[in-house]
Amino acid sequence: MGPRSCARACPRCWRTSVGRGLFEVELIEGEDGGWHAIDMNPRPYGSMALAIGAGCNLPAIWCRHVLGEPVPATRAVAGVRYRWTDADLRHGLWQLRAGDPTAAARTMSPRRHVVHAFARRSDPGPGVARMVEMATAAVGRARAPGGARTASPGSDPAVIIGAGPCGLAAAAHLPAYGVDVRVFGEPLEFWSQRMPDGMLLRSRRRSSSIADPRRELTIADYERAEGRTLRSPSLTREQFIDYGRWFARQIAPGIDPRRVSAVTRAGTGFSPAPGRRRGAGPLPG
Ligand SMILES: Cc1cc2nc3c(=O)[nH]c(=O)nc-3n(C[C@H](O)[C@H](O)[C@H](O)COP(=O)(O)OP(=O)(O)OC[C@H]3O[C@@H](n4cnc5c(N)ncnc54)[C@H](O)[C@@H]3O)c2cc1C
Repeated sequence: MGPRSCARACPRCWRTSVGRGLFEVELIEGEDGGWHAIDMNPRPYGSMALAIGAGCNLPAIWCRHVLGEPVPATRAVAGVRYRWTDADLRHGLWQLRAGDPTAAARTMSPRRHVVHAFARRSDPGPGVARMVEMATAAVGRARAPGGARTASPGSDPAVIIGAGPCGLAAAAHLPAYGVDVRVFGEPLEFWSQRMPDGMLLRSRRRSSSIADPRRELTIADYERAEGRTLRSPSLTREQFIDYGRWFARQIAPGIDPRRVSAVTRAGTGFSPAPGRRRGAGPLPG
C-alpha cells in the first residue's frame, strides 16, 4: 500500500488535526478491497524498532522534516522480524507452566533477521534494566499476599463502580490484600451495549484474559470449565462477554447490577448511591 492510499484510509480528523508528528494508524483490508482504520495512537508506537531495522528510520525522518532538511522517500525492506524479547520470554514461561513445551520452544526459539524492541548487544543497559524490573516484580508477586500490605480489620469496603474488564480485575485482586469489595454495574455492560454485533476482538486471545491474582480464570480456564472452544486467534465480542460474565460469577457472585447515580463524601471515605438497573425499575435498597 502506498502513502497516498494510506493517508486516504485515515479518518479525516486525523489527517487535519492529530496527524502531525509520529503517530500510529493500523489498517485492515476489507472484503471490498478497501483499507479501513481500526486503531490509532497519537504517539510513537512500541514496535518502531521494526521500521528502523527494516531501513525506515522514522524518528530520523521526522527530525529531518522538523529541521527543514530534505527527506528522501524511504521504503522498508520485507523479511525483517520483530521480537518483543521480554514478552516472548514471559509468554514462553507461561506456556511451559501450562504444560505446552512445544509452544514454548516455538515462542522462544531464536530466529534470523530479528530486531529486538530494546535489547541490544551494543547497548545492554535497557535490556538489563528490564530484566531487573521483571525479577523484582516476580519476587514481589511470590511474596504477596503474605508479605504485602493488607487492609486493617474492619476497614470500609472498596467500591468498584462498573463491572468492565478492569473493574472485575480489581475486584479479583483486592480480596488478596484483605480488602472487602462491592461491585456495582452489569458485568460487561459496555461490551454488550456499546460495541458492534459481530465484532472480533482486536487483541489476541492470549492477551485478552482478565487478570486474576492466581491466573486461574483465564480464557483457557473458562473453556475447560464450560466445555467450550472459543475462536482463535481472537474471540468474538459475544464470546468475550460470556467469558467476562463467567469471570464475574467466579470472583464476585454478589455483584450489584444497579448503576451508581451519585458518590458523596462520608466521613473519611465515600458513599455510593445506587440508582436503577439499566432498563429496569428501581431495586429495593
Ligand atoms: C470498538 C472497540 C473495540 C475494542 N476492542 C478491544 C480488544 O479487542 N481488546 C481489548 O483489550 N480492548 C478493546 N477495547 C478497549 C476496551 O473497551 C477496554 O479494553 C476495556 O473495556 C476497558 O475495561 P474497563 O473496565 O476499564 O472499561 P469498560 O469496559 O468501559 O467498563 C466500565 C463499565 O462501567 C460501567 N459504568 C459506568 N458508569 C457506571 C455507573 N455509574 N454505575 C455502574 N456502572 C457504571 C459501564 O457500563 C461499563 O460496563 C475496545 C474498545 C472499543 C470501543
